[in-house]
Amino acid sequence: MKTTFLTIKKNSIFAVLLCILAIGVFCGAYFPIKANATPKPVHTIVIDAGHGGKDGGAVGRTTGVTESELNLKYSLALKNICQQYGFNVVLTRSDMNGLYSPFASNKKRSEMEKRKEIIDKTNPDLVVSIHMNSFTSSSAKGAQVFYADGNESGQALAQSVQTNLFKTTENARKTAKVGDYYILNCTKVAGILVECGYLTNPDEEVLLQQEKYINDFCYNLFCGVLLYFGF
Ligand SMILES: [Zn+2]
Repeated sequence: MKTTFLTIKKNSIFAVLLCILAIGVFCGAYFPIKANATPKPVHTIVIDAGHGGKDGGAVGRTTGVTESELNLKYSLALKNICQQYGFNVVLTRSDMNGLYSPFASNKKRSEMEKRKEIIDKTNPDLVVSIHMNSFTSSSAKGAQVFYADGNESGQALAQSVQTNLFKTTENARKTAKVGDYYILNCTKVAGILVECGYLTNPDEEVLLQQEKYINDFCYNLFCGVLLYFGF
């Protein structure tokens, strides 16, 4: 009696296991797991035009051009190039409005939190923040790329972009630098902040506004990004 009961029990367990196996095979055939089935088709980049709204950033001494409007122009030009090469692009701002809440008591903090929120939500492969530099001395010039201390992928991206700018763009610096910026510190993603040139240098102030220079600069920046990805 005891032997029979155990035999029945064994048979039942065997039958259940067979059923589970059959269901598994069926589900595997008809509902294949899609994650990892195909590689991510394109890279996603967040392009961050610095400043905006009431915060115009640096101002050109001769022409009065604001950093915020140039940052936007460069960001839109970079966006076009990235899209032409199949990148998925997300902009933190696409007009001259500020990113801060109009009700925020600390507008700078509100604006930076909004930028972080966009990066976190997008979860991109890289972040490129666009700025124009300024200095007390009008002789300072040249593009400089920054990365967050300790962010290895950010450092590799920064050096790749800096090297390509150095090779292609007059006055661009040779070596990327560590920069203590919120937009770089707020994420683990490979991030760089590009100071495209100095608005306090009279020659660069004019050069930085030329359409051809903007497009060439953004193309050379983008080529540095491609080199980082191993293209
Ligand atoms: Zn700036």
